[in-house]
Amino acid sequence: NAVETYLKKIEESKQLNAFIEVYAAEALQRASELDELPAPHGKLHGVVVAIKDVICHKGHTVTAASRILEGFTSVFSATAVERLLAEGAIIIGRVNCDEFAMGSTNENSAYGKVLNAADQSRIPGGSSGGSAVAVQAGLCMVSLGSDTGGSVRQPADFCGIIGLKPTYGRVSRYGLIAYASSFDQIGVFAKTIPDTALVLEVISGADAYDSTVSQQPVPAYSQQLEKDRRYKIAYFPEALEHESLDPEIARAIKDQLHQWEAQGHAVAPVHFDLLDYIVPTYYVLTTAEASSNLSRFDGVKYGYRSAADNHTELDDFYKRNRSEGFGKEVKRRILLGNFVLSSGYYDAYFTQAQKVRRILTNNLQLIFKEFDFICLPTAPSVAFKIGEKSKDPIAMYIADIYTVMANLTGVPAISLPMFTHPTHQMPFGVQLMAAPFNELSLLSFSNNNL
Ligand code: GLN
Repeated sequence: NAVETYLKKIEESKQLNAFIEVYAAEALQRASELDELPAPHGKLHGVVVAIKDVICHKGHTVTAASRILEGFTSVFSATAVERLLAEGAIIIGRVNCDEFAMGSTNENSAYGKVLNAADQSRIPGGSSGGSAVAVQAGLCMVSLGSDTGGSVRQPADFCGIIGLKPTYGRVSRYGLIAYASSFDQIGVFAKTIPDTALVLEVISGADAYDSTVSQQPVPAYSQQLEKDRRYKIAYFPEALEHESLDPEIARAIKDQLHQWEAQGHAVAPVHFDLLDYIVPTYYVLTTAEASSNLSRFDGVKYGYRSAADNHTELDDFYKRNRSEGFGKEVKRRILLGNFVLSSGYYDAYFTQAQKVRRILTNNLQLIFKEFDFICLPTAPSVAFKIGEKSKDPIAMYIADIYTVMANLTGVPAISLPMFTHPTHQMPFGVQLMAAPFNELSLLSFSNNNL
């Protein structure tokens, strides 16, 4: 059966380090139970799924790829997981990622780096690198990741597959370990749009356990994909001329825009001069939220506790647990977040960044009055070599320039695998953003283009 085939492939692809844990016996057991049913059970009967290690699954370990959650077992399942299981999915394992979903390369994991299956000397992207590689290498059918600033779209782009970040509030965050709560969304990795649409419709929708989730009804995306519609597509010339962008990527996207125009879609430039503000705004706000979210990991109620037991002060006890439990990038962000929230700097950084976030949101709202989509690159380069950027966190942050806008403004966005880089022979994609809750247009248009 399918599970056996995937288990074998996972075993053969161990060097990719995509999985942290494989639920072999459990997945086989579930497959045989599903096989014995007289009729298919649900929309995802037998669909084999991998789950990023930031999503809780009752009775299973979840660590956010961090030492601080070593050996922690989920006491409940994320709503998204409950819904997958209710529709007959089989969860085959939990997959690697950057610690607490902080990173762009999957090099910040307590479980080691993940390799890109297209070229094993390159990173798969991050933070959901394991989720991307699991689908890319055919180790499962679809996977879940989380996207706070591009962590689904960017690794999808680097691995040549589809990555969808839904509208903020489309999918419940209940059971998703928080990085930056007003940005985080669970997203989908797949190889086809019908698969993406189906998983999205299963995991979306109102949930009493998440007060930020929308009550808007969920369309049957997989049944309603539209054909033959003409769309209005905006692009930002500033984004395509940006100095950080690989000229081959710029060229491929410009050519694609021309093709869409030739096919009868309306394509037009929109002036956008806020590009250089979005990465700083993202990192001020997300580190602030992270510093608050991660304060719960102190070694008291759960997680890693330092072996040193000679503390005399409570502060010292916290300090040891957190110093030993968190990795370097996570510490950097906690410090940054505490800094931008501290009383002397709050107005200079945090308040300013919130204002920029509002301006961006208003800006996009206006654009989406006229256009169905905004087209951008997903990332400024193809997947880079392992270690290439790990010494320079700022360069790494700046490479998030094209993805963080969707999270700052809450809009849905998708990365579509469409191109191969002529020099590096690596895949890359194009990104489309739509107005909030317009996933159906996004999926329909994407489906007609893959
Ligand atoms: N690279 C971004 C960051 O490090 C995105 C992370 C994410 O979406 N989880 O914050």
